[in-house]
Amino acid sequence: MHFNYLAFAVPVFTGLMLLEYYAGLRTQKEYLFSFDEAVANINVGIAERLCDLFTTGAFFYFFQWIYSEFSIFQIQPGFSTWILLFIITDFVWYWYHRAGHRVNLFWCVHVVHHQSTDFNFTVSARITVLQAAGRCLFWSVLPLIGFPPEMITILLLIHGTYPFFTHTQLIGKLGWLEYIFVTPSHHRVHHSSNPQYLDKNYGDVLIIWDKLFGSFAEEKEKPVYGLTKPLKSHSFLWQHFHFILEMAISFKKSRNLKGRWNTIFGKPDDIDPRIRSGLERKLLKNNHHSLQTISQKNFIRWQTIVSLVSLFLIILFEYYLSTAMIITAGLFIFISLIATGAMIEQRRWIFFLEYIRFCLLGSFIFLIYPSYNLGSFLLGLFTALLLFYKTLGNRYYSYLYQEVDKQSN
Ligand SMILES: [Zn+2]
Ligand SMILES: [Zn+2]
Repeated sequence: MHFNYLAFAVPVFTGLMLLEYYAGLRTQKEYLFSFDEAVANINVGIAERLCDLFTTGAFFYFFQWIYSEFSIFQIQPGFSTWILLFIITDFVWYWYHRAGHRVNLFWCVHVVHHQSTDFNFTVSARITVLQAAGRCLFWSVLPLIGFPPEMITILLLIHGTYPFFTHTQLIGKLGWLEYIFVTPSHHRVHHSSNPQYLDKNYGDVLIIWDKLFGSFAEEKEKPVYGLTKPLKSHSFLWQHFHFILEMAISFKKSRNLKGRWNTIFGKPDDIDPRIRSGLERKLLKNNHHSLQTISQKNFIRWQTIVSLVSLFLIILFEYYLSTAMIITAGLFIFISLIATGAMIEQRRWIFFLEYIRFCLLGSFIFLIYPSYNLGSFLLGLFTALLLFYKTLGNRYYSYLYQEVDKQSN
């Protein structure tokens, strides 16, 4: 059997998140974790891992193409070249991350990482595939210098694992390590919206770049996490696309070239904050996500577990699944993520997503056991469900939101 063992990253990192949660409980710091935020963070991470299945190969070929066509040197793996690659990678990360905060074109994808008002291991999962693509552009300097793509892939894997451990409030300051490495304390500052902490500590592994280029701040007062203007929603789609929408409106409204240039290459502050408020009024009305029923919480909890397990299985058996199977299962997970975000906010259109999910599940089973009989049975079932769509939908909502209805009555 030929498995993709990278799949085990899913249970290992989920296990570490749970460990952090229980350590928080033991030290009476359970307030560091909120249900909605943790689910939203994990869902963003699931989507990114899923997209990785399709993009990792493309990124590798991109590096390969630059290496074979344009590389300046031909660097061989060796102790000193590994160290050199690590230092250059960390340096490039610093500038990628700095651009991610100071240039709207990059902020529009990096913003997702900073939306959580919590700060724990689950926040490290808040990376999007668009951000990975932006980062890939910066990484392209590595094969251009002459580092072989195989070396780059291994180093990026190690380099990408480190920041997971800096997203925690359970570790205080770490003595002399604070002078050289990015520690949880440094990264807490980076995720804060306190005025003196804004645009600080961009480093990934080494903190020396921030000290060299004037963007370092020490953690002194208690950080307040999240964006300066927090999101009022856990919607999966809103989290991913709100700033892109804001940029599109700002671009359209700009009367001259300077305004358009600033919308794309300027700072996030250059976007009029009234645009977000207008969009929120239009798209996030009837948003009452603070009321959650027991059944709703259980449903969301199980749905997240199912998404995590499905993701693990898809990656593990990647080489045995056809493209159609991966796309069907991937769509099932994506729709689950959208449904979960909408469920937190008690949206009334999610039964439609449940119906689509059911059809995708049936299609996946059909792809495994393709037969005329099964196909006819599933088609019959999908049609029958459509006939009872309204009744089933009402039952579903009364199960999921019943206590909310009682509270609001
Ligand atoms: Zn950042
Ligand atoms: Zn972070």
